[in-house]
Amino acid sequence: MNHKIYLTEDEIPKKYYNLRADMLTKPAPMLRPDTKQPVVAADLEPVFAKALVKQELDNDTRYYDIPSEVRDFYKIYRPSPLIRAYNLEKALGTPAKIYYKYEGNNTSGSHKLNSAAAQVYYAKTEGIKSLTTETGAGQWGTALAEACSYFNMPLTVYMVKTSYEQKPFRRIIMQTFGADIFASPSNTTAIGRKMLTDNPDTTGSLGMAISEAIEKAVTNQNSRYVLGSVLNQVLLHQSIIGLEAETAFKKLGEYPDAVIGCAGGGSNLGGLIAPFMRDKILNKKNTDIIAVEPKSCPSFTRGKFAYDFCDAGNLTPLAKMYTLGSGFVPSADHAGGLRYHGMSPVLSQLYSDDLMTAEAYTQNEVFEAATLFARVEQILPAPESAHAIKGAIEYAKKCTESGEAKTILFGLTGTGYFDLVAYESYQNGTMIDYIPSDTELEKSISKLLKIHP
Ligand SMILES: *Cc1c(COP(=O)(O)O)cnc(C)c1O
Repeated sequence: MNHKIYLTEDEIPKKYYNLRADMLTKPAPMLRPDTKQPVVAADLEPVFAKALVKQELDNDTRYYDIPSEVRDFYKIYRPSPLIRAYNLEKALGTPAKIYYKYEGNNTSGSHKLNSAAAQVYYAKTEGIKSLTTETGAGQWGTALAEACSYFNMPLTVYMVKTSYEQKPFRRIIMQTFGADIFASPSNTTAIGRKMLTDNPDTTGSLGMAISEAIEKAVTNQNSRYVLGSVLNQVLLHQSIIGLEAETAFKKLGEYPDAVIGCAGGGSNLGGLIAPFMRDKILNKKNTDIIAVEPKSCPSFTRGKFAYDFCDAGNLTPLAKMYTLGSGFVPSADHAGGLRYHGMSPVLSQLYSDDLMTAEAYTQNEVFEAATLFARVEQILPAPESAHAIKGAIEYAKKCTESGEAKTILFGLTGTGYFDLVAYESYQNGTMIDYIPSDTELEKSISKLLKIHP
């Protein structure tokens, strides 16, 4: 009775898998906001490294070799274990078999490092001399700082001012890895200076931080911007999660009946489900594929499938996705990594094609699941990851009712050591379950551009 199914280092995948190549309906192309025409490589190359632009726009190439330098980096913390949650099964009294793929075993504490390593490596090989990014609570910034220190790449991070001031710990880790961090808005960019003049007391936002990071990249020679989710290239890199899980299930001689993950911008979920979704599309496997999101930011369950900006500052290309509107400001929900108005265009297309479903839960429901999981499985989950736990528990409960011994796989994306204030508010009973009203959602959704290609 093994709890962990480990792969050998040699079994770390040698190629990323591009699910788009097997999708019968491809995700809609990104559009230029000025001409409303599909973006081409030349539009994106001033912002992103060339190799990444190619991956971003490529709906056809099924596999991309993982560069050996990136595989060497992965060997520091991969393969990640697939773990059988015997103790959770026992606590639930379910006949279901529950497995989770655990991505929290690295200093950044999440799956984000998988894409950070690839993005930094490609930039390095193209002679790019520095990178910029934004970070909210800091998970992405930490992962990128870690990868940048390994590949010796200077990094500037624009961190939303409230987080910079109130959540110093991740900032200190990023600094330990050598990144330059500015509280955003800052006086280091023209747009930041304008924001500060217009509103000197602003606490900042992710939208503002993205605007500053992009300006910094495009106004500095040989500098590029990087993003940690939503983009097709990020899902491609995260396919390593699903590919490893697939290999582990083959070793077990099993196959999941359900694959469940949390969805913020969609990168971990897109990576986890990739090979299982391929089997569903090509081999008519009947796997239940389920996205779990917070009720406070319900892009899939209450959003609209439409073209929208990827950022609040409306600087980016338009992407066709489930969105609450780029003007939607989520409540100060604790699952920071899931507070995004939109959703990966790949997952959005799959959801629209009924190849996957979505569920939303309140924070209190999610922290109840997180607490149970911590007590029986002995890992303190990130609040984002706890959405997937909640989804898996609900699925297992249905198995208990029907008596079916189904096999469940969920993604445990990271650890919650920097989210203890949220755990405390759950324990105090002061955690608020905010659910936006229809009127509130309609306000930002009604501002979407009217584009019907
Ligand atoms: C950022 C983050 C997420 C959500 O991002 P996706 O792109 O949707 O995967 C989930 N879990 C953790 C721990 C995160 O840091």
